[in-house]
Formats: sequence, structure tokens, C-alpha cells
Amino acid sequence: MKTISTVTDLRKFLKSKNCPTLILNDILEAANISSMSIGLTKNVTDVIDWNNIVIDPIRKQFLPFASELEPNPPFLSLDSLGEKENEIFPGLIHRYPNKVLFLFNKVCPAYCSFCTRSYIVGPNTKNVKKDKIKLPFELRLNSLIDYLTFHPNIKDVLISGGDLVFAKTNLIDDLLNRLGELKSLRSIRIGTRGLFFLPDFFEKSHPFYKILEKQFLILKNRRIEFSFQSHFNHRNEINDSSFSAIKNLREIGITIRNQTVLLRGVNSNFQTLKELIEKLIDSNITPYYIYQMDMIPNAEHFRTSIEETIALSKNFTGYFTGFNTPKFVVDLPNGGGKTNVNSYEKFDEKSRAYIYKSSLKPNTVFKYYNPVRNTKTH
Ligand SMILES: *Cc1c(COP(=O)(O)O)cnc(C)c1O
Ligand code: SF4
Repeated sequence: MKTISTVTDLRKFLKSKNCPTLILNDILEAANISSMSIGLTKNVTDVIDWNNIVIDPIRKQFLPFASELEPNPPFLSLDSLGEKENEIFPGLIHRYPNKVLFLFNKVCPAYCSFCTRSYIVGPNTKNVKKDKIKLPFELRLNSLIDYLTFHPNIKDVLISGGDLVFAKTNLIDDLLNRLGELKSLRSIRIGTRGLFFLPDFFEKSHPFYKILEKQFLILKNRRIEFSFQSHFNHRNEINDSSFSAIKNLREIGITIRNQTVLLRGVNSNFQTLKELIEKLIDSNITPYYIYQMDMIPNAEHFRTSIEETIALSKNFTGYFTGFNTPKFVVDLPNGGGKTNVNSYEKFDEKSRAYIYKSSLKPNTVFKYYNPVRNTKTH
């Protein structure tokens, strides 16, 4: 389970890995100002190369150094996607006409320092007081079912988090039972980093796995596609344990589509992305999205410029089969939705932002600002 969740745990663990004091202090200093709480599982610490900690792409995602961080420009915001504006009740976000996002819970087994939902996911940190989900789960589940019953145009429910894999198995079973009874639904997706964080949960004897096995068949008989959306950012995250978790999930018949966040210094070059995509394909996972990093605070060093992202995406034209070629998207700030990164209308010299439009709100312009370090290079 979660092996490291406090400063004391982290300090002790880093010492056991012979982490030099200077680096240890750099990590603890960053943890002190992070939007995300400390959280690491065994499989996360297993894939970090402790002898090359400075350049390790997994270390960078979970244990940033204070010396790597960059200042927060004023256009960043904790709820940069404007999810609260589309909230129907705590944890249900209805932005697109025919699909909804349900936030199952608030916690994850490990915490990514660049989490897009840092306004709500995980415990409070010194820097960020998190939103609460005040309604109890049973009430939220009833409200979800009511809402979907009265909106039969909604065909797809994406369950994300907070990570569902970490939740009580009977609650997961309840949720899937209730959703499966809806005649209008055609797709249930689980967005999770569990295949990497908690691969043990996908062992065939695990209660969580057994529920997936059972529910897949029930849902299949009701013509509902039950699929997973994984989140792998680097090929090293697919070690033997993750691979075996993926394999077991695929053996049920569950389709897995992967979402990657483009992170500067982690995966923002052709070779690294290519290796990740190859590894995904080899693991029987469909590369689905590569996300332009959201405009959230305290993770600014990870953002690439839109030009860099577009340049990267061009390398992949026709490189893999069409269905294995990921879409490079930006989830537009303030609720514009996901759109192709290169679909912008223009670059606004004055605000130094890319201007996008969206069919979700036809009369609004959406601005994605390049990181400050890059604006001069446009
Ligand atoms: C990403 C997202 C979805 C699912 O979008 P797809 O592009 O179909 O994967 C649904 N609702 C919200 C609010 C989202 O952010
Ligand atoms: S697993 Fe997803 S929800 Fe959880 S901290 Fe990472 S990015 Fe956020």
C-alpha cells in the first residue's frame, strides 16, 4: 500500500537510499511548498534509479527538487480547467454534452506533483487547502444515478479521481452495479494510475481484480463497454510488476487506453516519447492522449511551450498505425475542453497567449499562456 506519506517517512526512506543531504533537503523543501501531499508506493520507489536520482524521470514526477521549481506567473490557477463551474453536485462534472466525469474519491495511493486536480485531490498541504467532497458516497451515488436517469443522452461515465483502485471494493461494486442497470449508458471508463501504483491489486486472487472480472461480463451483456484509462508518462513506469498487472487486466478483455502528460525534463523529447509509445503498444495498451500540461501552480517547470509540443507531435505523423498514434491535446483553461494542440486560432502577441475556440462555448476565447521562460522564443 502507501509506503511513504509523511515527511518523517520520506526522510527516513531517502536516507536508506543513501541520498546525499543536499538533495534530501532540496526534496524536503519542495515538498514543503508543493500543491500535492507526499505519497509514494513501493512500485514507484522501485522504478526510481537511486544512483541517478538527479536525472531520473520518475523521481522528477514525485519528488521534485526545490531548485528545479520556477516562479508561478499570475495566469496559473489550482482549478485551471474550471471544473467547479461545470459541477452538478460535489464530484460530478458535466462539461461535454454526452459524457460526464465522476470523481470517485479524494485520495490516491501516490501523489503526482503536477496533478491537474490539485484543488481537490489528496490531503491539505501547507500551501493548498483542498476542496472537500462533503456529501457521503451513498448520497453521491444516488444523485449520480438520478442525474443519468434524467439525462439519457449521456452515454459515457468516466470515473476518475482520486483513484478508484484505492477505494473500498464493495463501494466499487455498488457503483458498477448501479451504473450497469442504466439502459442509456454505453460506456464506463475508469481513469487510474493503479496499474503503476498498486500492481498487486491486479493479481488474479485480489478482491479488486475479481470485481473487475465479474463486472466486465455483466456490463458486456448489457452492451456497456467497460474500459480503463491508464496514466503512464515514461516507459520505466512499465516494469515487470506493472506489466503483469496490465496483462491480467487485458486477459479479462478490458481495453486500456493511455493518457500521458507531457512533462518537460521527463518525457518531452522524441526518443523518450517514442519508447513510451512502443512500450504501451507492446503491452497491449492504446496510446490515447498526450496532454499539454495544465496551467496549474507549483509545477511550472514541467510545462512545455505550445510550439515545442506541436513540433514533437509532428514527429509522430504516420510513425505508428493510425489507431496507435496518440492525439496531442490541450485541455483548454476555464472549461473549453480537450482540443488538438495545433488547432489554435492565432498567437496573441500582446498577452503572449495562444487563442483557441471551442464548440462548448462558442462565444468565448480560451487562452493558453506559454511558460514565461519560453515566450521570447516564439
Ligand atoms: C476528459 C474529460 C472527459 C472525457 O473526455 P474524452 O475526450 O472522451 O476522453 C469527460 N468529462 C470531462 C469533464 C473531462 O475532463
Ligand atoms: S494519480 Fe491522477 S489524480 Fe492522483 S495525484 Fe496523480 S494525477 Fe492526480
